[in-house]
Amino acid sequence: MFDSISDKFSSIIRTLSGKSKISEKNISDTIEDIKNALLDADVNVRVVRRFVNQTAEEAQGQKVLNSVNPSQQFIKIIYDKMVKVLGGEGAQKLELKGPDQVSIILMEGLQGSGKTTTAAKLALRLKKENRKVLLAACDVVRPAAIEQLKVLGESVGTPVFSEDIKDPVKIAHDAVIHAKVNHFDTLIVDTSGRMFLDDKLMGELENISKALNPDEKLFVADAMTGQNAVSIAKEFNDKVGITGVILSKFDSDTRGGAAMSIMSIVGKPVKFIGTGEKPTDLEIFYPERIASRILGMGDVVSLVEKAQEQFDEKKAQKLQEKIQKRTFDLDDYLEQLESMTRMGGADKIMEMIPGMKGQVSEEDMHLDELRTEKYIIQSMTHAERTNFMIIGPARRKRIAKGSGTYVSDVNRLLKKFEKLRSQMSKMTRNKKYQAALMKQMGMN
Ligand code: GDP
Repeated sequence: MFDSISDKFSSIIRTLSGKSKISEKNISDTIEDIKNALLDADVNVRVVRRFVNQTAEEAQGQKVLNSVNPSQQFIKIIYDKMVKVLGGEGAQKLELKGPDQVSIILMEGLQGSGKTTTAAKLALRLKKENRKVLLAACDVVRPAAIEQLKVLGESVGTPVFSEDIKDPVKIAHDAVIHAKVNHFDTLIVDTSGRMFLDDKLMGELENISKALNPDEKLFVADAMTGQNAVSIAKEFNDKVGITGVILSKFDSDTRGGAAMSIMSIVGKPVKFIGTGEKPTDLEIFYPERIASRILGMGDVVSLVEKAQEQFDEKKAQKLQEKIQKRTFDLDDYLEQLESMTRMGGADKIMEMIPGMKGQVSEEDMHLDELRTEKYIIQSMTHAERTNFMIIGPARRKRIAKGSGTYVSDVNRLLKKFEKLRSQMSKMTRNKKYQAALMKQMGMN
């Protein structure tokens, strides 16, 4: 998903970030490109218009043109608008009651949207959160639906309540009683879908909804149906009400229009995405991550933001020089450790720098480990910090003692530092990477 729109946006961002100055014309050209990219991705026209107008309005103000780093400022505006369109900052959690009551989740959607599969995926996720989940089979229309739910329920270790009657409201009602009596705290109700919207389906859902008063009414939208999913969601929202959307088949090769339109048009947040057919293929929807993905830039924008907060540009420049000249020493590393811990952990930072993800393995970099490393370096002499090669066995023992750690901790740090230094210098010898990094650090 998003491959094509991401390609277009990445190229827009690349062109922008190559400029140290931007003009009114650059802004309007970029906005035109954005508009076309969004329309090509099948984003709803009203959403495109709003996106484009708001971006233009903000970008054309003096804020961008007069800023120290106009291209980055502009990219940030585009990113912020993208996050907003996708639902705003942060993931939207399910609103469920505590474990002493039964929370009810009603699944809604057309037939084939992935409702039954998603109900099982959700059951598994909630089980992992230590909830005691019961599934209720209220799809009495599709002959195999109850059996399918039973099979899925078994695969995720969740019991399924069903009755051999044709009245879904009664089954739902009985399921609630069964849940209460048997101390379940979460009831997920699978309902029937139709191939198309029809009054009977809506009436049936409305009745179930009225009878149960669910905590969450989750509309499962098939991302492959593009913009059509948006109008269907709107219809469900108007008639039965929805509290959140789950976009299924997010792994498919669709253009992304549904994801980008649904929040703005329906006004209800996407809470999860289905990323495959397996019960584990359900992920929380993070607007920021998707926006970064669409813009094709890792989490560069937030890195830039954080870096601007935490980094002094001159210091960053000096650091870059040191890495290039291979004079990056343990004192510099200590300084980085300190700013990294302030910035929220090294693995976060590594993840955000394109090309760095996976270069330094994540388990190499954990906060408590970083703290230990800080103590170790603080126990070294100036000479040791500037030239780690002189740290032989006797010095290692002394440093371990001084920092309240073990010699093995000191060894680990030195090995890691050596690896990091060689990786950094390797990377900085790569001209393309260097240019990208400098730009992201605001040093173009
Ligand atoms: P329902 O009629 O709405 O209950 O739909 P089902 O749950 O039976 O799903 C219809 C089809 O879509 C099944 O073949 C599922 O395996 C498949 N499906 C559901 N969710 C996803 C998903 O997130 N990704 C992919 N690739 N397939 C999915």
